[in-house]
Amino acid sequence: MLDNQKVIAVLEAIGAAVEAHKEYLTELDQPIGDSDHGINLARGFQAVSGRLPGMADADIGTIFKNVGMTLVSTVGGASGPLYGTAFMRMGMTVGNTQELSMDGFLKGLESAVEGVKQRGHSTVEEATMLDAMVPALEAMKAAAADGKDPKTVLEAGCQASWAGAEHTKDLVATKGRASYVGERGLGHQDPGATSFSYLLDAVRENL
Ligand code: ADP
Ligand code: MG
Repeated sequence: MLDNQKVIAVLEAIGAAVEAHKEYLTELDQPIGDSDHGINLARGFQAVSGRLPGMADADIGTIFKNVGMTLVSTVGGASGPLYGTAFMRMGMTVGNTQELSMDGFLKGLESAVEGVKQRGHSTVEEATMLDAMVPALEAMKAAAADGKDPKTVLEAGCQASWAGAEHTKDLVATKGRASYVGERGLGHQDPGATSFSYLLDAVRENL
């Protein structure tokens, strides 16, 4: 169970993780994109970080919605609207609550994934962030259904997320900028799948 203070702390940790891996994420975006993914996300989470102190008394749904709106207006690129939508959907599903359970988190993530699919007109196996998000969600749902504790659930999710990110090397991108390079993108790991894996790692490490 996370209360809103803890949610804010986890969001701070996500921002720190994005900042720490900014260069690597941007490097991944070089051969198949325009070398800005880490820079884009770091700008967005920097803005989020500035607004989090003002959200100390907000309910958890509102916090996530505000994070999403901040990301939409500051990240830019394809990933801004997509991550923004993900956090906004998460907030709508979580709703006006002061406590977030694992079940609530997974339901929220499920609608975040749906939001990315709709907004991006995309699905799995297209070498995008969804190739990390979907396997991570499935693994966490399975672990939770098995009655595993939250730490174990998150560990399963992170493992599946990184495996999914790795798998994007074997995929020809059909969405976003990476689709322009076609088969030349083979062997390159998708930046968005990688950033999502760092986000989930930050959640796991700060539970
Ligand atoms: P841009 O491609 O506009 O420069 P970024 O570099 O910030 O934006 O983000 C690129 C990432 O966005 C990709 O690595 C991919 O994971 C994700 N992405 C791009 N288009 C889509 C889409 N249609 N659906 C899902 N994810 C996408
Ligand atoms: Mg880019």
